[in-house]
Amino acid sequence: MFSLLDRRGGLHTLVQRPGDTVAATLLRNAIPPNSVLTFCDESSIVADDHVLDPNRSYLAKLIEGYDIAGIRKLFESRDSSRPYVHRRLALAANGSLSMERTALDVPGVADRVATVVRETIDQFSLLRPTSSVVLGLSGGVDSGSLLMLLAAYRDAACPGLEIHAATFQDFDSKWSETFDFARGLAERHEVSHKVLEPGYAEDVFNLNRPIAQILMHLMETDDAHAAMYVDHHTTRRVLEVHADEVNSSTVALGLHTTDLLAGLLNSYTVGFDMSGIPARPVGPYDYVFPLAFVPKRELHLYYLHKTGHAPKQTEPNQWEFNPSDRNYLYYLADQLQWHWPGIETWMFTAHARRVAQQPPRFLKCENCGASVRDQPDSQDLWRGTCDVCEVLDKHGWVSR
Ligand SMILES: [Zn+2]
Repeated sequence: MFSLLDRRGGLHTLVQRPGDTVAATLLRNAIPPNSVLTFCDESSIVADDHVLDPNRSYLAKLIEGYDIAGIRKLFESRDSSRPYVHRRLALAANGSLSMERTALDVPGVADRVATVVRETIDQFSLLRPTSSVVLGLSGGVDSGSLLMLLAAYRDAACPGLEIHAATFQDFDSKWSETFDFARGLAERHEVSHKVLEPGYAEDVFNLNRPIAQILMHLMETDDAHAAMYVDHHTTRRVLEVHADEVNSSTVALGLHTTDLLAGLLNSYTVGFDMSGIPARPVGPYDYVFPLAFVPKRELHLYYLHKTGHAPKQTEPNQWEFNPSDRNYLYYLADQLQWHWPGIETWMFTAHARRVAQQPPRFLKCENCGASVRDQPDSQDLWRGTCDVCEVLDKHGWVSR
């Protein structure tokens, strides 16, 4: 027998399974282990990892002052009538909470995603009716979905909008299915599509060897943890240079809720400043993230509905599991959305307001030309190049 004693003296019997630890039992019952001390047979205190003995009784005493019974009720109701339940924790003006649940079939999720993206673009003025936008298109589920959503937005509300999809062929994309898929997708949705050859990055970054080779080499050095950052930075910078060529200053990326929430958690915990969400000025460019309020699962279902097939899960690059703190932030961002569905609406809006009060200053990298956000204590560290060019130069890959 395992019970919870709340602060009002209420005793609640918890569900337990043979072989469970104390922590597993608490989590199974939506109780954070940190909020209780657990007693065995009313005498000894047991650790979270203690495996329950079926012949003994356990009592978890709540040491926190909050209404845990009331909070657990929010998560109690069940609905499996349709493939997906969109949940949102609703906060009333008087502070009361309720869990909204909307059961949706797959077309219903796709409609929801399209509406959220349309509202995000309009509410945050992400696109101007006669402007043009460069879309970073890898051919994966996120950027592929964004292409379809931007094309739908153009057709419904913004006929003058020019969409320039661009695929940076940084690795093996030329031969991969995702590359063909990107091209087909752009064609089908009447979006211009350009492949940015790998030589592009060599020119922009003054490299003396192909970027694909550099990334592989980097994995064998002490800077292996920087490979993913180098990969992302070179792709973004190449997209910016391409934007210059098509006279656009807006770059749209398919970052979804988890991507951006993980970034925000990183910024809050490490202490560096991060620009806005879903609109982010970076030097002369406006980055926009129309998928900011679309959770990854809804994006997958949108994609499934529109293309008729599930996205092909490609094997992660060598550097995508490295470093592990980045993976952990993603994990945490998903956990947060589970416990507080809709938290992104609050966090991103609050962040945008905070950012608006302190317009960022940018430094310009003398090698790649990227704009780097000036961080509070970076003056002494700035040596004229961005941190990516610094790494590339350190290994002798910058040709001048
Ligand atoms: Zn640079």
